[in-house]
Amino acid sequence: MVLTVFTRVSSNLPKNAAAVILLRANTDHRNPEVFWVKRSDHLAFLGGYTAFPGGQMDDSDREVEVRNAVNEETAAMVSCGARELFEELGILAVHGGDNLTKGQRASLLDDLESKRMTWPTLLAHYELQLDANDFTFVGRWVTPPFSARRFDTWFFLVTCPLKQEPRVVPGELASGEWIRATAAYDRWLNSEIVAVPPTLHALKTLAGGLSSNLVERFLAPVQAHGEPVRKITFRPNYISFPVRTPTKPPATHTNCYLVHTAKEILIFDPGSPYEDEQQALAVCVDELIAEGRRVREIVITHLHPDHVGGVNALRKHFGASVPVAAHAQTAAALTDIQVDRFIADNEVISLEGDPELQLRALHTPGHARGHLCFHDVRTGVLMTGDNIVGLGSVLIDPPEGNMIDYLNSLERVRALANLTVLFGGHGPAIANPYKKIDEYISHRLEREQSILQAVRLGAANAKEIVARVYTDVSPKAHAMAERAVLAHLEKLAAEGSVVIEGEQISPI
Ligand SMILES: [Zn+2]
Repeated sequence: MVLTVFTRVSSNLPKNAAAVILLRANTDHRNPEVFWVKRSDHLAFLGGYTAFPGGQMDDSDREVEVRNAVNEETAAMVSCGARELFEELGILAVHGGDNLTKGQRASLLDDLESKRMTWPTLLAHYELQLDANDFTFVGRWVTPPFSARRFDTWFFLVTCPLKQEPRVVPGELASGEWIRATAAYDRWLNSEIVAVPPTLHALKTLAGGLSSNLVERFLAPVQAHGEPVRKITFRPNYISFPVRTPTKPPATHTNCYLVHTAKEILIFDPGSPYEDEQQALAVCVDELIAEGRRVREIVITHLHPDHVGGVNALRKHFGASVPVAAHAQTAAALTDIQVDRFIADNEVISLEGDPELQLRALHTPGHARGHLCFHDVRTGVLMTGDNIVGLGSVLIDPPEGNMIDYLNSLERVRALANLTVLFGGHGPAIANPYKKIDEYISHRLEREQSILQAVRLGAANAKEIVARVYTDVSPKAHAMAERAVLAHLEKLAAEGSVVIEGEQISPI
């Protein structure tokens, strides 16, 4: 379960955004060159992802006059895309822009970034004109509701003006380069990048060449018209299928993972107790079966209800022929679910295929006693269950939760050699694995120091500690924060820094 103690819940309505798929001028139509970027590891939203330049709409984007726009909404989105393209890559896709020297464009960018000029005044001042015909609409994708931050993003294909060369403006982006569409798509197939569905769809579509039906191919999936994606493939062989669950805010969904080769499927954490969600998941699995695969096992990462709520229904769907596997400590705690096979620490599950897919189980207690993570050594995927999540924060609630075990488990996965992506129980995949694990460890150690300090300054029980330390948290979450404090105090007591006598805490 995930808790809201450290995260303020904001409205989860998708915000308007635009992204630009920039094509090289006069590029090879059979295999075009596209400019892709890598988002900075420091970004809270999709840090480390491969993407296209883009971002959230600004109110002032609406004030720009756009030639040939069919309506005001389209004009605003074109304006947003053009501004983001300029801010992130220095490209001015406007009429009149070619008369500006490189130096003039740089000084314009500086005017915009330093807020000396707004986007509309800058365009007007230099007599630059946006034209919707330069921005080919190729889809509108909405972030699925499993993410705390959601966008309704319009995608535009734009040809890079001849005399301009994109360069990444340091900040939100770590790097960027021209790449052939087929090479880009191959990078995804080789598990070298992490991308959201619209990025992947664009690379795949462009890899088919700039044919006369290009826009049609872009717009073919219903997801290109605002229907949120259900089967999310951040990486090949791993389908994230978020299902609605009674979990803790800000999360509203639990990620079920369908790990598969061409021959076999493993189903991790079918957690939804709701019939419509169970049915949607069953349909998705049935499609994988129809393509010639068999379901090997249902695997449970840990015992929490939002991870096991759909296990029995799914097993029933398969006529009970599919076994359920979990750690022995998870199996012992689950009264309503029959676990057929125990998974031990370091055990390797191999899925038949070419290549074979191997997952090594890691017993990683802390959030729950029998918690398991799974490591795909070949591609660097780590399935982290609820130990590390892409949304909200992890509750350590004693006695099931144990802070010493939890930190040891984080250190253990931090030491793995080739992590490239983390698939957590909630939220999007994490494409900056080591940075995220470091943040988790330092966050806990900082809390621990604040708690110890509070005890030394006279806070004598969990309630008083919460009042002093969790000042950033709404009173509604204080009961849960007390559980987290208790986990920290148990660790501090075991290490000889505090004494716990009943409810009473004292320093040593
Ligand atoms: Zn959990």
